[in-house]
Amino acid sequence: MKAYPHFSHLVLTDFERGQVHRLWLDLIEDAFGTPMSIPVFIVRGVEAGPVLGLTAAVHGDELNGIPVIQRFVNELNPKKLKGTVIGIPVMNLPSFFRHQRRFIDGVDLNHIMPGVADGSASQVYANRFVQRVLSQFDYLIDLHTASHGRINSYYVRADLSNPISAELARLQNPQIIVNNPPSDGTLRGEASERNIPAITVEVGNPRTFQRGLIRTGITGLHNASIMLGMVDDEIEINDDGLTMCPSSFWIYTDVGGLLRVIPEINQRVSKGELIATVTNIFGDKIAEYHAPEDGVVIGKSVNPVNHTGGRVLHLGRLE
Ligand SMILES: [Zn+2]
Repeated sequence: MKAYPHFSHLVLTDFERGQVHRLWLDLIEDAFGTPMSIPVFIVRGVEAGPVLGLTAAVHGDELNGIPVIQRFVNELNPKKLKGTVIGIPVMNLPSFFRHQRRFIDGVDLNHIMPGVADGSASQVYANRFVQRVLSQFDYLIDLHTASHGRINSYYVRADLSNPISAELARLQNPQIIVNNPPSDGTLRGEASERNIPAITVEVGNPRTFQRGLIRTGITGLHNASIMLGMVDDEIEINDDGLTMCPSSFWIYTDVGGLLRVIPEINQRVSKGELIATVTNIFGDKIAEYHAPEDGVVIGKSVNPVNHTGGRVLHLGRLE
């Protein structure tokens, strides 16, 4: 097995320009005192320029972003790069091993940023990640997927009032862009607190690799690096069928039972259209749900086992 060096802090100037560095960054320790270390790519370009940060698997079972970062980084030529790319293919390391979204203490890391220096395990982990990694970024692209039991279109959440974030969003060639002001506690929210333009890219479905979407994701990162002046190449834009949503919201059930969600992802629905049914365990239909307004289906539940308050679908409002 190839061994990569361990670091407890990242000092970018310690890494030679014109090279791709692969390393482990120690964040916290387990009960044996063994470091929990995240994999880090540092691509130091020969010339000065911005630091583009790429993160995936902040939710440990959201995997499509991993090959997106690996392949984008491995295709970069550091001899021609201006600036630095820092890629973290798996941010939430212990949950990646456990096929789980949340951290080992049951906390969603993407709700507690920037963490707490002397807090709980998840708070310290989040805080050290922010201090040691995020704080070095000039731009952030954070790669996610739907949660377990749901599927997503290929879409981007971004604060469209920030022109750089809006442009980074468009360059991902998504099916849908949702205007979404940064929320407290997320990695993107923390980036925005630090004036780091940031977008969240939702690359399809959890717990799998989707080859087509991974390829689109790589093109998106390549486009971003060109737009930021780091790589000299031509941007590839394909915005056929792009839907812009000024906002979005989830629709929830108010009964328990077996849920069937009817429209496909990225499908337009009209106000009043039947979007879901719930049957009881004997097969009797007990509820119907209709679209409260015209919109586009950003994501939906595919797990039929539904408690009261379960998510039906994520509807994007149309302009
Ligand atoms: Zn996620």
